[in-house]
Amino acid sequence: MSTEALTQVRIQQISDNPKLAWMENRPFFIPHSVLEKNDLAKYLDTEGNLAIPTGKFNVSPKASEILRLHAAFTDQKPISSRLPFSYQKIPSRIRSWVASIIGRWQRQKMNRWCVFPRWPLDLSADCLADLMIGYPPSPFKEKPTPVILTHDLDSAEGLKNLVRWFLKIEESVGARSTNYIVPCSWPIEHDLLRQVKDRGNEIGIHGYDHSNKTPFCEPVERRNRLEAARELIEKYDIIGYRAPSLLRTRGLLQDLANFYHYDSSIPTSGGLFPVPNNGCASARPFFIEGIFELPLSMPRDGSLLVLGYSPEEIFNLWVRCAEDISRSGGVVVLLTHCEARFSGNPTMLKVYQRFLEFIASSNRFIWSSPKEVLDRIEKVIGNKNE
Ligand SMILES: [Zn+2]
Repeated sequence: MSTEALTQVRIQQISDNPKLAWMENRPFFIPHSVLEKNDLAKYLDTEGNLAIPTGKFNVSPKASEILRLHAAFTDQKPISSRLPFSYQKIPSRIRSWVASIIGRWQRQKMNRWCVFPRWPLDLSADCLADLMIGYPPSPFKEKPTPVILTHDLDSAEGLKNLVRWFLKIEESVGARSTNYIVPCSWPIEHDLLRQVKDRGNEIGIHGYDHSNKTPFCEPVERRNRLEAARELIEKYDIIGYRAPSLLRTRGLLQDLANFYHYDSSIPTSGGLFPVPNNGCASARPFFIEGIFELPLSMPRDGSLLVLGYSPEEIFNLWVRCAEDISRSGGVVVLLTHCEARFSGNPTMLKVYQRFLEFIASSNRFIWSSPKEVLDRIEKVIGNKNE
C-alpha cells in the first residue's frame, strides 16, 4: 500500500454540473497532496465537509491514478501462500469454518480492515476522475449500466452446479455469465465446459492450481504457470483472467498482458480479504501494466458469507451497490461461486435469482460481458484518437 496520506471528505455544494451530482453528500478519500496543491483545505470545514468551489478544483489525471493504485496490489503474501503445501489440501469445510469464525469476529472491527477503500463500496478514484476539468465523463455514464455476472469455478463441483442451477437462472432473465476455470487443479469435464460456452457464456482462466502462489513466483516460474493455460485459452477463445483469492501483484499483471486482453482481479473495495484494506476504489475499467483491468465492483459472495451477512442483507446490499455504481458511471461486476458452501445452495440461489430479477426489471441496467465492455472502451478511445 502507498504511504500517501488520504483525507476523508464529504462532498457538499455541487454546482449544477450533472457530471458531479452523483457524489453529493457522500464520503470520499482525497490524497492530502491534491487538497494542498489545489489550495482546497480552506474549503474544508472541521467536520470534513468539502464545499466544491466551482471551477477551482482542477485535479490532474495523475491524482486519480495515484488513488486507484494506492491499495490496488496485494504485495504481501497471505498465510495461504506461505504454506509449504497448497492450502487447497486442507478440506474446504475446515477452511470455511475457520474463515467464518475470523469473519464474524472481524465484522465488529470494520474500522480496522476497511480504512481505505471503505467497505462495501468506495468510489473515491472515480470521484477524483470526475473532478478533472475538461475531461470527458466515464463512457459508462450514459445509461444503461453494464452488468457482468461472473463465477470462479474452484472445483469440479462448481462447474457441475453452474450447469445444473446457475445457467438456468441466468437464462431465465436473458443474462449470460463469465466463468473463470482453474486449469491445473482438478480434472475438467470438457463436455460441461463446452456446453457453458455453447450456451453463449464466456470462459476465463482462474490461476494455475489455486494454491495462491502465482503472483509471488519468480518470473520464470510464473510464466510457466501462466503458459499451462495456453491450450484452454485457445480452445475456448479466452480473453480474461481472474486471480485466485484476488491475489495480484504488478509482476503478475505485466505477465498477464502477454496472454489476455483483460484482468478482473482487483476489487473496488476488497474489504477483509485477501488482505485488509485492499482495492482500487473505482468501478470503471482502466489500463495498467499493458492490460485492461475490469474491477470486481460488487461485494462478493464469499466475503459476505464469511462476515455473517444474512441472505436478506446480501440482497439489499447488492441492490444498493449496483444502484450506486450505476449513478457513478461504473460497471457492475458481480462474483458468485457455484460451490454449495458459497452460492450453490437453495438459500443463496434464491438471493441470486432475486438480484438478477431486480436487474432485469430495471431499465437502468443492461446485461453485458467483459468483451462487450472492452469493445465499448476501445470504441471511445478510437473516437478520441480520430
Ligand atoms: Zn477461486
